[in-house]
Amino acid sequence: MLNFTVGPVMCSDDVLAVGGEQVPYFRTAEFSETMLENEKYILDFSGAPEGSKAVFMTNSSTGSMEAVVMNCFTQKDKVLVIDGGSFGHRFAQLCEIHDIPHTRLELKCGQALSKEKLYEYDNRDYTGLLVNIDETSTGVLYDSEMIGDFCKKNGLFYVCDCVSAFLADPFDMAKCGAHVMITGSQKVLACPPGISVIVLNPEAVERVKNANVKSMYFNLADALKNMERGQTPFTPAVGILRQINRRLKEIDEAGGAEVEIARVAKQAADFRAKIKELPFEFVSESPANGVTPIHPINADAYKIFEILKDEYGIWICPNGGELKSKVFRVGHIGYLCIEDNDTLINAFKDLQKRGLL
Ligand SMILES: *Cc1c(COP(=O)(O)O)cnc(C)c1O
Repeated sequence: MLNFTVGPVMCSDDVLAVGGEQVPYFRTAEFSETMLENEKYILDFSGAPEGSKAVFMTNSSTGSMEAVVMNCFTQKDKVLVIDGGSFGHRFAQLCEIHDIPHTRLELKCGQALSKEKLYEYDNRDYTGLLVNIDETSTGVLYDSEMIGDFCKKNGLFYVCDCVSAFLADPFDMAKCGAHVMITGSQKVLACPPGISVIVLNPEAVERVKNANVKSMYFNLADALKNMERGQTPFTPAVGILRQINRRLKEIDEAGGAEVEIARVAKQAADFRAKIKELPFEFVSESPANGVTPIHPINADAYKIFEILKDEYGIWICPNGGELKSKVFRVGHIGYLCIEDNDTLINAFKDLQKRGLL
């Protein structure tokens, strides 16, 4: 199997090997040390300011998006949601479910967020902003620092879903002023799904500690308190947290976050250069490094996904909803190399020869 989806993605051999080990009991000094190491690396790689904390949630990243909405906002807030695709839409749905007053700043499929568009919402009564830095459904990368300046100017609590952007696109929490950053195990962290990470800056830590949350599992104050000693309130996905530890060390040994970001960027640039001759259109006006959404001009996007999976053993990522037959996505994250791009491109060329593209 050769996997170009945007999660789960290919794991390195070392991370796979950790997954093959027995899962240890976790209320131990050894596991606490693993967790505190994980926190240290995540804070470092996200550029989190002094005094920030990370918590490791055993849920997919949508669970963390929900936890953040529940712990950081109340009915007294008014939140601006950047809604440029299915993940932005998900934030709006979460606000709706939890009765958080909000406005959707809607963008068309693939449309970048311009400063002009954002500043239409300047000097209003908003108190927070929710954005998916890489809107993975359309591969649009938003400018975290431009949005950060807007949030600072307007005094907004700034939440960045970096689920697919963390370690794929440059992101510096201190520099852009984000209060919260979310990521997940199955994207650029290239581990199995099951763990999501929430980084809170000092202001966010204070906010969460004083929140009155009607939830046991999604109580972030409880998670923070346990994390002081490298633990979680309930049994976490211990095996995946150990794989994350190996993966974070791998990234560190290779030179840190910048090196991994450069590697993903190179993987993306190589692919985008090599598909120029194929009957494809790019979708994103502001492409993120992690994924390339493609509109095949003469073919059904979902059929291409199926043929590649069934006849070539290659997985690309289909889109859902309205985009299902129009757009597929090719991921550049996880344990992939340039030769893997060539394998995929040769398969596309073969489809073209067969009259299927
Ligand atoms: C993958 C992803 C998520 C979370 O998806 P889960 O299926 O809940 O892990 C959230 N936001 C973005 C931008 C993503 O790419």
